[in-house]
Amino acid sequence: MSRAQTTLRTSVAIEGVGLHSGHPVRACFRPAPAGHGIAFHRLDRPDVVIPARVESASTFDYATTLNVDGVSVGTVEHVLSAAFGEGLDNCVIELDGPEVPILDGSALPFVRLFHAAGFERLGEPVKSLSAPAPVRVSRDGRSVSFEPDGPGLTITYEIDFPHPVVGRQELTVTIRPEEYSARIAPARTFGFAKDVEALRARGLARGGSLHNAVVLDEEGVLSGPLRFRDEFVRHKVLDLLGDLALLGGVLDGHIHARKAGHALHIEFARALAAAAGKTEVVRVPTERARRRANIRS
Ligand SMILES: [Zn+2]
Repeated sequence: MSRAQTTLRTSVAIEGVGLHSGHPVRACFRPAPAGHGIAFHRLDRPDVVIPARVESASTFDYATTLNVDGVSVGTVEHVLSAAFGEGLDNCVIELDGPEVPILDGSALPFVRLFHAAGFERLGEPVKSLSAPAPVRVSRDGRSVSFEPDGPGLTITYEIDFPHPVVGRQELTVTIRPEEYSARIAPARTFGFAKDVEALRARGLARGGSLHNAVVLDEEGVLSGPLRFRDEFVRHKVLDLLGDLALLGGVLDGHIHARKAGHALHIEFARALAAAAGKTEVVRVPTERARRRANIRS
């Protein structure tokens, strides 16, 4: 039997800056009823509610963005990972800007906030979204696959970066709230110093700093000690869970990801949803297709 749906016992709020905009942003988390799911609400666009659904997702520069009726909310994956990892099913996330605050670059501040609010069990069971047969997406040596494998969700993630501190890392973890908060949530996002200038020139990563990311130069880590020797692969698990949260239910089985990123995570989530027969697969046009369409019209 699946567990009961949950929400927060009380409203809680946190403040920080947006990773890309660099602007201060306040996020307020409010309880929501069973069946509501997680939804974002931008106070500067009060007419639009943005549900955390895979149909609304697009990926962009190492982050996942949701978009409904032309209103978007960016960098949603760490807060959604915290919700998925801790088993928070229903919540309204109010933001006074277009991006979730990056905080320390991990999911730990969100986990602590949820624990501070406390969880309330609701009267309905969670939806189970597991596919009955294996599902696999792959591109250029990168892949994400699913095997039905009894109750519970296990993730194996492999990365391989040609960098002396990163190299090849592999982690297998069974996703339970206590495992998630101790082993996955504290792992911070990471990036390479050489990429920062190019991102900033495009108006991105303006809120990025040594305080909210593990920043690497050619030889080592610029931003102080790592939280785990394999913090990099742990953060990849964190990101994958944030993208899987967009399925809006619990998963049973074993997911194996190899050198993937948000784009492939989202493609996988769509394939899994289609295989589970729970959600309609909506194709989001690529940037190139959108441009082509604009030229024709
Ligand atoms: Zn991340």
